[in-house]
Parts: sequence; structure tokens; C-alpha cells
Amino acid sequence: MRISPDLGEHLDRLASNFHYDSSLTVDPVAFVQRLRRDPRAAEIVGVLSSTVAVGNVLSIRRNLTGLLQRLGEDPRGFVEAFPKNRWRTVLAPWKHRWIRADQMGFLLLRLREIYENYSIGLEEVFLEKSGGLPLEPAYFGQGLDALSRALRWGSTNRQHTFYEPPPGYLQLFPTPIGPGSRPVCKRLALFTRWMVRQHTPDLGLWRRVPPSILHVPLDTHVYWISYHMGLTRRKTRTWKTVEEITGHLRGFDPEDPIRFDFALAHTGISGDCPKQPVLTVCGKCALRPDCDLWVRRGPRRASRTRPTK
Ligand code: SF4
Repeated sequence: MRISPDLGEHLDRLASNFHYDSSLTVDPVAFVQRLRRDPRAAEIVGVLSSTVAVGNVLSIRRNLTGLLQRLGEDPRGFVEAFPKNRWRTVLAPWKHRWIRADQMGFLLLRLREIYENYSIGLEEVFLEKSGGLPLEPAYFGQGLDALSRALRWGSTNRQHTFYEPPPGYLQLFPTPIGPGSRPVCKRLALFTRWMVRQHTPDLGLWRRVPPSILHVPLDTHVYWISYHMGLTRRKTRTWKTVEEITGHLRGFDPEDPIRFDFALAHTGISGDCPKQPVLTVCGKCALRPDCDLWVRRGPRRASRTRPTK
């Protein structure tokens, strides 16, 4: 399917008319927004929130609330005084799906060590491979790789942590750089969006990273809609898919290519898109003229060949 020439205009309409307030009541970025005036605390809560942003939004919200209550009113102070010898147990009992308290404890241990070594914070980590040069979109993967390395073991130019990570921890922070499969890295791409974009619902705390280089945090909802708008023909979600979709979105807005991400994601999360052409629902959809299910199959006849998740 070709991309409709009017898709950019329709994405604009979707984003402009979107019900941000009601969607923010269930989105994990709401936990981060409260800390806008304390960038270090916002980074800490942002990393935790994006890391557990998998699954049903209500369970994410419930379990994230429980996790953040353990940090108390001062996340920055909690991390600065984080007990290094008790990282396995200090957050227990806590769990969100397959993500455990010991993994989140190790993450807080890594954050403490990063902040002890860096004078600025995770923006500095993101930028460490740039050599001070102006950032181009191709750098984004390198920035995520630097963040991934720092949160996993240690940064590229600092000493590794003394402690061994718990089982499954390294898989929470994959990198899009290197041999083999290149995953979508949704968690770190989402965290970076929150830190960089300066418009609702994002915080714009990192001023040295331009929004123009951001890549889409590709969850199943954004992938599904992107696929049916013709923004990708790929049947699986990989970093190549992220690059392809982001490249097309950059054509609509070179300065802020992922400004449609929140609206696209929540169109799927909220059920506003039934993922099949249903007249009573799709009639209000700004993307209906561009949706291949609607254009090719008409109402009520859903595709039998959906992409894999
Ligand atoms: S037309 Fe219907 S199925 Fe297609 S994106 Fe819009 S709401 Fe979803």
C-alpha cells in the first residue's frame, strides 16, 4: 500500500484534536511530569516508568504507583543514599509482569553509580559518543546504545559496576547497535522522547538533544496503525522498522517527527481504534481515508493477515 498524500494532514488533525488530558490519566509519563522542576528526579522516575511500561495501562499504573511509593517523596535523595549492599531486597516485595524488585533495585544501583561519576546526568551519557558534533538522526541509535551500556554495566568510558546484574536484567535494556538482531528498544526511545520533546505531554529537560533526531518508541499499537497506514511493510518489529516508520514521519515534520506518537499509541490503547473497520467507530477516525483496512475492505470486514506483534 502506498502512503496517502494526505496522511500528514490527517496525522496533524489526529494530534491536534487528541484528548491528551484523559489519556494522561493512564499514561506513565504523568508520573514524570510531576517532577518537571527537578530534572534529576524526573530522570530517575522516567527510567523506572519507561522500564515498566509494558502490558495493560491500568496494571502499569497500579504497579508503578507501588514502586514509586517505595522511593518516597524524594527520588533523588533515595538514589543518592541507595544502600548498595541491599539492592536485591530493598524494593521487595514488588513485581510487574516478569519485571522483579531485584531488577529495579539493580537499576537504582546503576543510577546511583552513574550520577556519582557524571556531573550532569543521563543526557551526558546519551551524548558521550557524539564527540561534540551537531547531532543528526543517524546518531540516535548511538545515543540509545550509550544509555543501554550505562544502565546495563557501566558506560563506554567509565568503570563497570562491581555487582553482577540479576537474571533478565540485561534484556530490559537492549541496544540497536551491533551484530545480530536489532530490537526496537521501545523503553529507552520512550524515555528519551519524554526528556527531549518540549511539547505536551513531554518534558523537554534535555536541551542539547534536538527533537529532530528522535525515533518512534514502537509499541504494538503504533506498529499496527503504522502498518495499516503504509508507513512500513515489515511484518516484524525491529530497529529497521523503527527507522522506516520514523523516516516517513520525518517527511511530515522534520523538526519533530514523533510528535504524533502519543496520539497514535493512545488511539490503540484506548480502544478508539478497534483494529478492524467498524462503521460506528471508524466514522470519527481522522486516519480513516489512509487506513488500508477501511479503504480496501470496507466496514466490518477485518483483515485476516495481520502483522505479527
Ligand atoms: S479507520 Fe478504523 S481500523 Fe483504521 S485506523 Fe481508523 S479506527 Fe482504526
